[in-house]
Amino acid sequence: MNHENKSGVDLKEIANLCKRRGFIFQSSEIYGGMGSVWDYGPLGVELKKNVKDQWWRRIVYDRTDVEGLDAAILMNPKTWIASGHVDSFADMLVDCKVCKKRFRVDKVEGDVCPECGGAFTAAKSFNLMFKTQVGSVEGESQDVYLRPETAQGIFVNFANVQTSSRKKPPFGIAQIGKSFRNEITTGNFIFRSREFEQMELEFFVKPGDDEKWYEYWLAERMSWYTDLGINKDHLRFREHAKDELAFYAKRCHDIEYLFPMGWSELEGIASRTDYDLKQHAGAAENGSSLRYFDSQTNESYVPYVIEPSGGVDRAVLAFLVDSYRSENVRDKERVYLSIDHRLAPIKVAVLPLLKNRPEIVEMAHKILKDIKVGGRVVYDDTASIGRLYRRQDEIGTPICVTVDVESLTDNKVTLRYRDSMEQDRVDISKIKEVLGEKLKV
Ligand code: ATP
Repeated sequence: MNHENKSGVDLKEIANLCKRRGFIFQSSEIYGGMGSVWDYGPLGVELKKNVKDQWWRRIVYDRTDVEGLDAAILMNPKTWIASGHVDSFADMLVDCKVCKKRFRVDKVEGDVCPECGGAFTAAKSFNLMFKTQVGSVEGESQDVYLRPETAQGIFVNFANVQTSSRKKPPFGIAQIGKSFRNEITTGNFIFRSREFEQMELEFFVKPGDDEKWYEYWLAERMSWYTDLGINKDHLRFREHAKDELAFYAKRCHDIEYLFPMGWSELEGIASRTDYDLKQHAGAAENGSSLRYFDSQTNESYVPYVIEPSGGVDRAVLAFLVDSYRSENVRDKERVYLSIDHRLAPIKVAVLPLLKNRPEIVEMAHKILKDIKVGGRVVYDDTASIGRLYRRQDEIGTPICVTVDVESLTDNKVTLRYRDSMEQDRVDISKIKEVLGEKLKV
């Protein structure tokens, strides 16, 4: 694994923190793990859910021109023939003749093995789709694929969604879900895994309007990351050169993030013309033309598509890397995640200053029960207050509420803020209001 410190943060430190605090574990660890597959623990599942919720909110709830979809992972295998994946969703690979390691031609520099200097075999094509069988009788089962992207579930449902929701271009269909790729170049923690989640939007427009909408989605997607706190200097667009574009794509930009291993793709935004809908219409067995008929103008056309396609796991990694801070406080290292409160796995931690004073513990539990901030709120008394604060800092909890001896008489608690470490003394009756204001969703 390459841990070069290109963004000032070490990927190993992030991975350690994730394991230690319960964000991300190696899959099936007790059996020695499973290559490039990851499990999200109690904090990871919250962070990932928050990332997906923020995407859904921005793409679906905040607009009137996008509908949601949750298509199945298994699809009729004809889908993948029509989409071109059976023929061309492949990487060119070379094997080292000496150490037998396998490399992607586009990811390896020079013409000898970077590990041992051995010579390579001739390049051969390797399809990235996982194959499995449907049906229980051997010989009669049918080969199917685990989807390598969520997009095709959207294209084949274009007519279903368009007619049932009575939408007219420009409109979009959004989907979040698992995708699977038998990746060869893996590593870099959750950056490239074999099972991952995508957040994809297919936005259907009238041919001719595609350039305008392409520009719109480039700006809109970039601002989603910066609005959620990613430093804009750590993000950039990279336009695909003509020879890099899929043959049907008019244009494609990657949004790249400055990951610890260097600038790498976070999301792709592609102008896909009418390629996908036409491919499926040509192969469909129910006569579906996948055209849009505009009854006002009597025009019929196959819409063009703009596709912003992001990886949930890569977004999670970017949010973790970008918010990771380490500083010296009174000669001790303080690590904290300066993550946007909308993404923070725990919103508020309620901490008793003394756990052996039942009145304090009781008051803390009562406060905990009353806090409703639309996310997880926790109680912790398993260490001294200083250590409890550090623990919450490290997992990005924006606010701690501390109950002390004085709280019993003055009905006030201390609110302590993660980034500044400043403290406010607040009347218990005001907690709801203050937290509601500071943790607005
Ligand atoms: P790469 O060149 O890094 O393999 P890609 O160009 O094949 O990525 P797309 O097919 O455009 O990726 O997929 C859209 C998004 O899905 C990517 O921008 C990325 O965020 C995410 N993604 C793709 N492959 C993986 C993977 N193996 N692990 C995690 N996320 C992935």
